[in-house]
Amino acid sequence: SQPLLEVKGLKKYFSVKSGFWGKEKVVRAVDGVHLTVYPGETLSIVGESGCGKSTTGRCILRLIEPTEGEILFQGRDIRALNAAELRAARRDMQLVFQDPFASLNPRKTVGQILLDPLIVHGIGTPAERRKRVEEMIEIVGLTRQHLHRFPHEFSGGQRQRIGIARALILRPKLVVADEPVSALDVSIQAQILNLLKDLQREFQLTYLFISHDLSVVRHISDRVAVMYLGKVVEVADKTVLYERPIHPYTQALLSAVPVPDPTREVKRILLEGDLPSPANPPAGCQFHPRCRHCMEVCRTTVPPLKEAEPGHLVACHLG
Ligand code: SF4
Ligand code: MG
Repeated sequence: SQPLLEVKGLKKYFSVKSGFWGKEKVVRAVDGVHLTVYPGETLSIVGESGCGKSTTGRCILRLIEPTEGEILFQGRDIRALNAAELRAARRDMQLVFQDPFASLNPRKTVGQILLDPLIVHGIGTPAERRKRVEEMIEIVGLTRQHLHRFPHEFSGGQRQRIGIARALILRPKLVVADEPVSALDVSIQAQILNLLKDLQREFQLTYLFISHDLSVVRHISDRVAVMYLGKVVEVADKTVLYERPIHPYTQALLSAVPVPDPTREVKRILLEGDLPSPANPPAGCQFHPRCRHCMEVCRTTVPPLKEAEPGHLVACHLG
């Protein structure tokens, strides 16, 4: 099928002043990301903090302006949209935030929080809007009585249910979920992930799921993209990626995750050195200073993301 979202060569560079004298430095937060997301699937972006995964998600929704690249949503480049077109496109693309404590306005009732997007987008009559809000709060597992309360009266898990209701109230096609369960207790995480899965089926949603947590990603994804220092280094079906990772960085990441099958022994691969700064990324393959398989070519030449086997993309000179 046709992709719902295609990201080509996406870059986001920030200029930051460093040190007392304020010398300008360029931080390459996102440095040439390619992604394809198909309707109805969950594609996860996984990587360590600072790899550019959140920035990628925000560029896709144009909450921040990309430096370069194409973002095709239903075949149209959202970077080329004018303000009115962008507003219309926003109905179809919604964000679920990491921190449900910070992202809900504390001075508004839950009912008002859910009503606002409908009013902004001029959807329905007042009676229709009210009906949709009442339905949505129940769909996410809360009650109509909760509509009269304020965000601080809820637990973290309940607040994330409200955040999800707010994202879904406009019936979007694409939901970008940026670490939606990271702020929650482990016991609550599974409930929220299961809710997201149920809602995906019910509303034919497509998810771009952003997370640093490989266990969470394993639970929710159809396909997984691994990011390192602003670049996608590997993409594959979840099962393939978890069982047969090809990129040495993916292999190291996964070796640190407890395996569900205790008879399968995975040797922990320790990464040498620290994550380099995106203000000063290594030449060639950005992973080369930490790679056990580093060859001469890796120091000078960026490995392109290419197909190692059908549907399995890897950016490595070995693959
Ligand atoms: Fe390692 Fe070279 Fe592959 Fe980079 S390109 S991951 S340095 S083998
Ligand atoms: Mg982040």
